[in-house]
Amino acid sequence: MYRTHTCGQLRIDHCNETVTLSGWIQRSRDLGGMTFMDLRDRYGITQLVFNMETNADLCKKARKLGREYVIQINGVVAERSNKNKNIPTGDIEILVDEIIVLNASEVPPFTIEDETDGGEELRMKYRYLDLRRNVMKNNLILRHRLARETRKYLDQNDFIEVETPVLIKSTPEGARDFVVPSRMNSGQFYALPQSPQTFKQLLMIGGYDRYFQLVKCFRDEDFRADRQPEFTQIDCEMAFVEKQDVMNMFEGLVKHLFNGVLGFDMEGEFPQITYTEAMEKYGNDKPDMRFGMLIHELTRMAQGKGFKVFDSVEYIGGIRVEGYANYTRKQLDELTAFVQKPQIGAKGLVYVKCNEDGSFKSSVDKFFGPDDLHQWAEALNAQKGDLLLILAGEKRQTLHALSELRLEMGNRLGLRDKDKFAPLWVKDFPLLEYDAETNRYYAMHHPFTSPVQEDLDYFESDPAKMRAEAYDMVINGVEIGGGSIRIHNRETQQKMLKALGFSDDEASEQFGFLMEAFKFGAPPHGGIAFGFDRIAAMFAGEESIREVIAFPKNNAGRDIMIDSPANISEVQLKELNLKLSQ
Ligand code: ASP
Repeated sequence: MYRTHTCGQLRIDHCNETVTLSGWIQRSRDLGGMTFMDLRDRYGITQLVFNMETNADLCKKARKLGREYVIQINGVVAERSNKNKNIPTGDIEILVDEIIVLNASEVPPFTIEDETDGGEELRMKYRYLDLRRNVMKNNLILRHRLARETRKYLDQNDFIEVETPVLIKSTPEGARDFVVPSRMNSGQFYALPQSPQTFKQLLMIGGYDRYFQLVKCFRDEDFRADRQPEFTQIDCEMAFVEKQDVMNMFEGLVKHLFNGVLGFDMEGEFPQITYTEAMEKYGNDKPDMRFGMLIHELTRMAQGKGFKVFDSVEYIGGIRVEGYANYTRKQLDELTAFVQKPQIGAKGLVYVKCNEDGSFKSSVDKFFGPDDLHQWAEALNAQKGDLLLILAGEKRQTLHALSELRLEMGNRLGLRDKDKFAPLWVKDFPLLEYDAETNRYYAMHHPFTSPVQEDLDYFESDPAKMRAEAYDMVINGVEIGGGSIRIHNRETQQKMLKALGFSDDEASEQFGFLMEAFKFGAPPHGGIAFGFDRIAAMFAGEESIREVIAFPKNNAGRDIMIDSPANISEVQLKELNLKLSQ
């Protein structure tokens, strides 16, 4: 028997029991006649003691063993004189009688500690060592509990988990497909699913009115901290539902997860705001609602006073930073440099200080007198002592810059508290987005999203006006889920594909199977998918989803542990009837 207990199990009540433990050597300290060793496994750490006086041979043997050796020991549980209140086994130690080395270890390339000295590349290369660290262990356990609670809630609500295929045909979720060559069908390729979107709709047509799946999705995109080429969704679909039914069900799921995993009660209903409101008040469609500092438009009142920069633009807007009229020149210069970064794209920053004595100090005093500035302050609900930050330019771009400025100020002022959660729904998205470069419309969500019924007539006259029956769930500025009511009618689906620039032939080649299925009694349906990795990262308080994925890829899409992607042999290429051009 390798062990009678785990390294996290023994307490004062076990004193005088003879036990066997197995685990890894975390660290070892020689203090005069004694050697103390911490033995670690997944469950915790137990202190082992070797005594030079009572058993010199054993003690010498122990002193030769290095960090991360795997050992098995027999010994007796004893009360510690010097108790460690920080660990659950801290009241006891094991007086060891026998030690068996199960496997030696080289010195690990980084310390297996909470605060490791290993950089990210090294941690990824030796991920199995990184996974021994508490932080990673706790993240993976948290992820497991999230999966368990997800299944529990959905099962209680009559959802069944159905697996859908991985080798499929392209699903248009807006990214590039990963493709897999078919040996048996020479010259043809499978695509990996960007999501099981069409399959879950076919399951509705198949009569399974509540489906879910914890499922891997694959998107060939450029990477960011919250992106991986393969990631996990909680994918869900329901039949015979309206938008609000789906939102209620999945607001329930998120509340259940917060409660079941974090013990956190989310009270009340989640606020719902429209896409337009989100854009105008927060400058983006995934607002961080942990703090206010809303954007207000000043275009009309700030134009026509001879300030050329303002007079020639489409949009002027500002935010109010409460109590920061004492911001220094240097701080304001930093903010100006911040908004001028290429990814933010503002030309400059105008500030107004609402001084305590009722006067104003601004960077545009030459053009705007106290009355004008007073008017702006009123529009922004400013009080004495507040700072106003104002940007101007093309509307969409300026709203984006204001959004980034707002988030930056939120960070600077400590308003984006990690322990606070501010959920909301964003709804009434436009159905289509026009792209001037390619001169065509794109689906804002995906081509199966239903338009709002009363907007249907715009398909012909003004597609840009159409709203979608879509909803996103956002928490703390992160979009954690999104979905929609779907089109379940063949004619509407045809119109949608047409609006997206598909010819009839292209539409039937790519989506013929779905259009065919719509002929056979497709029920009204809708659903949602949550980014499981993002939820896990948020619950774990991690910035990057890599920290909640056991074996993630790096920024270049590589798994540097197994060294993938990799070349394949000539034989394989030949079997697949493929030739590399270089
Ligand atoms: N398939 C969509 C996505 O992956 C989610 C949905 O509409 O249910 O984003």
